[in-house]
Amino acid sequence: MSASLQPPLALLAEVTHRCPMRCVYCSNPLVLEPRSAELDTATWCRVLDEAAALGCLHVHFSGGEPTARGDLPKLVAQASAAGLYVNLITSGVMLDAGTLAPLVAAGLEHVQISFQDIEPIAGEWIGGLKGAHARKLSAAALVADAGLALTVNFVVHRHNASRVAEMIELGRSMRAGRIEVAHVQYYGWGLRNRASLLPTREQLDRVTAVVEAARERLRGCLVIDYVIPDYWARLPKACMGGWGRRFILIDPAGRALPCHAATTIPGLSFDSVRDRSLSEIWTQSPAFQRFRGTAWMSEPCASCERREIDWGGCRCQALALAGDAAATDPVCWKSPRHDALAGLAASESSMQQASLVYRGSPA
Ligand code: SF4
Ligand code: SF4
Repeated sequence: MSASLQPPLALLAEVTHRCPMRCVYCSNPLVLEPRSAELDTATWCRVLDEAAALGCLHVHFSGGEPTARGDLPKLVAQASAAGLYVNLITSGVMLDAGTLAPLVAAGLEHVQISFQDIEPIAGEWIGGLKGAHARKLSAAALVADAGLALTVNFVVHRHNASRVAEMIELGRSMRAGRIEVAHVQYYGWGLRNRASLLPTREQLDRVTAVVEAARERLRGCLVIDYVIPDYWARLPKACMGGWGRRFILIDPAGRALPCHAATTIPGLSFDSVRDRSLSEIWTQSPAFQRFRGTAWMSEPCASCERREIDWGGCRCQALALAGDAAATDPVCWKSPRHDALAGLAASESSMQQASLVYRGSPA
């Protein structure tokens, strides 16, 4: 590894696309990997060892719903034995006492459970699964009772933005140490449903005020992370901490990706952990090198003082909104497309009625 290239902080192990939920904002791709294409247990175990050897500190098991894989306890044990801090990112709907116990015994340390709302019917409308809310509450209680660190994630959009204060109270009542209030990010199925989900500017401002007040009130007791919808921002986020800088994501079929939506970018080819080691991929894969650092940038990013802060924003968003993955993220006020994006946000967020498209299931 060259002196300037640091190892990834974390491995995002997307072990399956299978999931009983059908969230209308799911960041999984529109074409989902079938079970028959998933990596086997032995390959995942090798990858976890390689991640630890490469210098990763954390592994985040996600999906789809990672507990849909019967070998998850084995993968958790392998990761824990390799010295990785093990986090499970789950919908919670398949997490009962019988599922959790072997994961705890295997070395699971942290669980993040996503909630669609505080109201069961409204949440189940967005998540596409009846009875999900009660199962999530029960899973959160089991995680807290087991003494694991718990993060509760609330996904915010036009239809639940008025209930964020109650979401934070619900998170506290579930004994979460951290609450994430995250507006929908418009990739995958979220992009498909953007016109139905994007909040108005006024809604966003009210949510921001609620979160800031709660942060002040709960300082020292609870951490509240807050993620706004890019479409209303003037500066882009450092997507994934910069392309190929902090994270390496392995999809269910074994492709190594710099971010969830990278496969939408035409012309990139992704190495598979079936063929190459994680270290080779991190240091040599053309897809990881394509937008790493600043050499790929053109103006206005190339000479901007923020180029090593936000790394030019999100490449997949630049593709989706500007038609060019190498363009400045249109979220940035310096982008020539920023005004058009602001106009799109204003018009889509004020649409009265738009139908929802539910996430599909893998073949
Ligand atoms: S966002 Fe919803 S549908 Fe997508 S993986 Fe998570 S729980 Fe499943
Ligand atoms: S011009 Fe580029 S580097 Fe500068 S703030 Fe905008 S996106 Fe970031």
